[in-house]
Amino acid sequence: MTTRTEATLTEIASFQAHLDAILALESTRRIIDDAESTGTFPRAIIEVFGREGIFAAKWRERPLPALEHTRILSDRLGRLGCGGIASAVSLHDSAIALLRRFGRSERLRQIADQAMAGDVVLCISATEAGAGSDMLGIRSTAVAEAGGFRVRGHKKMASPSSVADYIVLALRGSEESRQGRDDLALFLVPTSQLRVGKTFDTVGARSISTAPVAFDTWVPAEMMIARPGTGLAVLSWGLAQERYAMAAQIVGACELALGVTVARMKRRESFGATLFDHQALRLRVAELQSRVEMMRWALNGMAADPAGLNVRSSAAAKVTVVRLGGEVMSECMHIFGSAGVLESESPLGRWWRDVKMARIGGGTDEMLWEIVAAGLEPDHASYERLVREWQPEMVESDCSADADQPVAVG
Ligand SMILES: Cc1cc2nc3c(=O)[nH]c(=O)nc-3n(C[C@H](O)[C@H](O)[C@H](O)COP(=O)(O)OP(=O)(O)OC[C@H]3O[C@@H](n4cnc5c(N)ncnc54)[C@H](O)[C@@H]3O)c2cc1C
Repeated sequence: MTTRTEATLTEIASFQAHLDAILALESTRRIIDDAESTGTFPRAIIEVFGREGIFAAKWRERPLPALEHTRILSDRLGRLGCGGIASAVSLHDSAIALLRRFGRSERLRQIADQAMAGDVVLCISATEAGAGSDMLGIRSTAVAEAGGFRVRGHKKMASPSSVADYIVLALRGSEESRQGRDDLALFLVPTSQLRVGKTFDTVGARSISTAPVAFDTWVPAEMMIARPGTGLAVLSWGLAQERYAMAAQIVGACELALGVTVARMKRRESFGATLFDHQALRLRVAELQSRVEMMRWALNGMAADPAGLNVRSSAAAKVTVVRLGGEVMSECMHIFGSAGVLESESPLGRWWRDVKMARIGGGTDEMLWEIVAAGLEPDHASYERLVREWQPEMVESDCSADADQPVAVG
């Protein structure tokens, strides 16, 4: 489409301008609108982004993906107002990240290159009917056979498996009872070797094309991304990328919703004034806008600091932004009045449902808070100082004996 070189796209300003130009094209808009109305993920969007260097831009000469590119791409996907496409594109992008970072074989590297070029579509699946939040409950296996691996089992949720060419599968590395042991491995398997079930009719994010898959097939050893025992750590790294991307998508989606809501408020009149003139509404929107803006700065900060993204910070970002997104969509819908709840009059209801999906996909609120909880650090020194100052009689009995027990202070 426009003139660009791979080198210029590594510059964030050129990347952003190029992406905006692609998304403004009539042909791109048509792909997105058709996907939303048919409820099917469009391969064409991956092809366009691939052809235009969008996926490759963040990897040039780098051992790790450039998070700033992820943030801009995700923000723009969020602003499309089409949660299904946003989620499935970022799953494809996160699968590329897994292959680029951990794929050791020539074949995995070739497939990563094809995926960056938009020639193949990738998806990732861990979730099974009996194992979602608890990944150590996964029962599907990868067992050594004839110089490769027999992979056998099923996955309940895989997006967008109905259009993907390859799937990253999280599998147990042995058939024996694990007794809680982590022996998860990751493999890349062509979807042509799976049975892909009927696409689910999801409440929101309709064009995500999530479908179950079942498999009993053989893959060569070169398709192993992470050997047994390392799969969970590798997948957690990929999920950190994915969760950061989801947070940036939701910030983009919130800014879209708040922007159109403010426009609506400035135009619609009630009781002789615009809705914006009514202080109660204006301040409610201002409060939400303040929180969204602060989250945007937080995500910018994470991208700017090389130590900013980790399993914990990405979980914290995703759960915080997604819950805020739910409030934003709900309030915007409310301020639109009846037009907010009529499918024929506004997309607000659709956006509200899309953000609800994001509280489940990519890890539920509770699982993400568990990740944060695992890193909570007690500040014993301040606690002891506090007790010494305010309850000196407790010092002997409490601080020295059992510092972790709660003490009523004040
Ligand atoms: C639109 C969509 C697309 C998806 N696409 C994919 C995909 O491409 N690949 C993939 O692998 N998965 C995908 N998923 C699945 C998603 O990751 C899981 O649904 C999610 O991890 C939750 O698992 P579950 O559905 O089995 O719920 P469960 O694990 O059964 O949890 C049910 C509820 O209980 C809560 N809960 C569970 N355990 C605890 C606990 N110990 N403490 C407190 N609360 C708890 C959970 O937070 C949740 O609210 C997708 C989901 C959606 C909605």
